[in-house]
Amino acid sequence: SLKGKTAVVTGSNSGIGLGIAHELAKAGASVVINSFTDRDEDHALAKEIADQHGVEVRYIQADMSKADECRALIEKAGACDILVNNAGIQHVAPIDEFPVEKWDAIIAINMSSAFHTTAAALPLMRKAGWGRVVNIASAHGLTASPFKSAYVAAKHGVVGMTKVVALETAKEPITANAICPGYVKTPLVEAQIPDTAEKYDMTEEEVIEKVILERQPSKEFATTEQLGGVAVFLCSDAAAQITGTTISVDGGWTAL
Ligand code: NAD
Repeated sequence: SLKGKTAVVTGSNSGIGLGIAHELAKAGASVVINSFTDRDEDHALAKEIADQHGVEVRYIQADMSKADECRALIEKAGACDILVNNAGIQHVAPIDEFPVEKWDAIIAINMSSAFHTTAAALPLMRKAGWGRVVNIASAHGLTASPFKSAYVAAKHGVVGMTKVVALETAKEPITANAICPGYVKTPLVEAQIPDTAEKYDMTEEEVIEKVILERQPSKEFATTEQLGGVAVFLCSDAAAQITGTTISVDGGWTAL
C-alpha cells in the first residue's frame, strides 16, 4: 500500500495523468493533481478522486511551461514521495515550417518541467528516505516519426534525463524510470477519430486500425488504467531495483 506517501502528478486533470492519479489514490497515496487552469471543475475533480478512494487529494494550479511554477508546485505540495512527470502537449509540422513558439513550449512542458520538478522534489525524497520518479515519456522517446521534431526531441531528452537521475540516486532508496506509452485512448486521441473518418471516408473502426494504430501491432489502445497500474508497480517493493530504465506500454510498437 502507498498509505502515508504523497504523489504529485503533473498535468493530471485529463487523460493519462488523471488515470495515474486514480490508480495511485486507489493504492492509498495522498495525491496532488495539477494543470495550468484554476477552474471550479479542477477542484471538484480533486474532491471526486478523494471521495472515490478515501484519500486526500489536492488540486494545485501551476503552469509547467514556467520554471518557477514547476518548482513552486513541489513546494506547495509540501511533500513529494512519488513524482510523476506527465504534463505534455503535441504539435505536428515539418521541421522547416515548425513554429518556434511551439518548439519552445513543447521543450519546456514535455522536458524542462521534469528537470525543475525533479530538482525540487529530490531533497524532499531524501529527507523522507524514499522516493520514486516516474516520467511519462513515449514510444517517441525511443523511436521517431516524421513531423514531430519537438516532441521526439523532448521525449528522448526525458529518457536521457531519467538515466541521469537514476545514477545520481543509485545508492539511495530512490528510483527513476520512464514509462513509454504507444497510443493511449485519451480524450485528446478520441476527439480526432470522427474527423479523420470523414476526411478519409472510412468507418471509425478503420481509422483506429489503419490510421491511428498503424504503428501499434496489437491494434489496440493502451488504457489510462494500465498506465496507472504500471506507475503503481514502479512504486512497489518489487520495483526497488528497477532504476534508470524504460517500460514500454505500446502493444509491440518498439519491437518492430
Ligand atoms: P491530455 O491532453 O489528455 O493530457 C495532458 C495534460 O497535461 C492535461 O491535464 C493538461 O491540462 C496538462 N497540461 C498541458 N499543458 C500544461 C501546462 N502548461 N502546465 C500544466 N499542465 C499542462 O493528453 P495525454 O494523452 O493524457 O498525455 C499525457 C502525457 O502522456 C503527455 O506527456 C504525452 O506526451 C504522453 N503520451 C501520450 C500518449 C497518447 O497516446 N495519448 C502516448 C504517449 C505519451
